[in-house]
Amino acid sequence: MSGPYKRLETKLVHAGEPRPRIDGAVEMPIFQSATFEYRGERRYDDVRYLRLNNTPNHLALHAKLADLEGSEAALVTASGMAAISTTLLTVLSAGDHLLAQSCLYGGTHDFVTREFAGLGLSVDFIDADRRDTWRAQLKPNTRAVYVEAMTNPLLEVADLRAVAEFARAHRLVSIIDNTFASPVNFRPIEAGFDLVLHSATKYLNGHSDIVAGAVAGSSALIERIRHKANHLGGSLDPHAAFLLSRGLKTLALRVRYQNESALKLAQFLESHPAVARVHYAGLESHPRHARAASLFAGFGGVLSFELKGPPERADELAGRVRIPAVAPSLGGVHTLLTRPATTSHSGLAREDRERLGISDGLLRLSVGIEATEDLLEDFAQALG
Ligand SMILES: *Cc1c(COP(=O)(O)O)cnc(C)c1O
Repeated sequence: MSGPYKRLETKLVHAGEPRPRIDGAVEMPIFQSATFEYRGERRYDDVRYLRLNNTPNHLALHAKLADLEGSEAALVTASGMAAISTTLLTVLSAGDHLLAQSCLYGGTHDFVTREFAGLGLSVDFIDADRRDTWRAQLKPNTRAVYVEAMTNPLLEVADLRAVAEFARAHRLVSIIDNTFASPVNFRPIEAGFDLVLHSATKYLNGHSDIVAGAVAGSSALIERIRHKANHLGGSLDPHAAFLLSRGLKTLALRVRYQNESALKLAQFLESHPAVARVHYAGLESHPRHARAASLFAGFGGVLSFELKGPPERADELAGRVRIPAVAPSLGGVHTLLTRPATTSHSGLAREDRERLGISDGLLRLSVGIEATEDLLEDFAQALG
C-alpha cells in the first residue's frame, strides 16, 4: 500500500485505521455493538453484524494485517484454531487430500488426524526438509500443502521456499502457520505462499491476555474464507479486537528485543556444563542455521533445551527459576517455561515423542521482554 506508512514500524501503528480519526480520537475506539443501521447492503456477508466480521474494529485489523503480511486481504478470527480450521475447511472439500508437515502444532495435528476422516478429507505427512520425497506423496485429489515457519518445540526450519515452489508447480494451495516467526521476522507471501495463518494469541497480541487468530492472502481466497467463517461463527469480539490492535502497535519493538534476548539465552545455555543440547535456529550449531538466516530477519523468542541427567532434572529446574512462569503458550511479554512431554505433547505415546525428537526432559522457553541480564542471572542460579 502506498502513502506515508511505508515501513513495518509505521504500519503497525497506523495502517488500516480510519483517517480522519473518529471524532479526533488518537486511538481507534471500540465499537461494542452487535448490529449496525442498515445502509442498503445487498449481500448477506455485507450486512453489518458482529458475527459477519465487518465492524469498524474488524475492518481496521483486516487492513492492518494485510499491510503487514504484504497480502491483498486478511481476516481475524476468534482464535488461532478458528483461523486454521476455517481455512482448511474452505480450501478442502469432501474427497480432497492434504499434504502436511510431520511435526505440527498439537491442535492442528489433532484436527487433521481426528476430524478429517469424518468430513471425507484425508491427510498425509511429509518430511518438509526433503523435497525429493514430496512428489511421490501427491495424489490426484491433493489440493493443498500445509507447513509451519518453525516447528514446535524443536524449532526446525523446513525448506519453505521449496514448499511454495512445489505447490505452485502442482497447483496446490500453499498454507503456512507463521505464528512463531511473526511478520517482523518472516513474510511468507513474499516467499511465494498463498495463505498465511497466525495464532494472534502469541506474538501479534503479545500480552497473554486474549486468544485470537488471523489469516492473510489473496482477496479471492480470503473472501471465501470469510464466507465460511461467517457460517462457522468463530468471529473475534470487539474488545479482543481492540486489545489485538493495541498489542500489534509494539510488535516490532517486542519481537526484535525477544530475538536478541533469546539468542543470548541460547548461547548461554549452550555453553553451560549442565545443558546437553539447545535447539535454536540462531545458533551456528543448529543444522538449519544457514537456511533460517536466509529466510528470516530474526530467529524468534522461542528456544528449547535438554539438561544432562535424568528427565526429572527438567522439573527441578522449572521449580528453581524465579522469573519465568511455568505455563504453556508463548510469544508474550512474560517469559514462559514448559516441559512438552508433560504438557503440549503429553497426548503422544513416548515412542512417538521420541521419534519426533522430543525427549522427556526437553524444556521449551518463550523469552519475554524482561531484562536479558535478569533472565541470564536467573538461569545461572537455577542451573548452578
Ligand atoms: C498456539 C498456536 C496455535 C493455536 O492458536 P490458538 O490461538 O491457541 O487457537 C496454532 N499454531 C501455533 C504454531 C501455535 O503456537
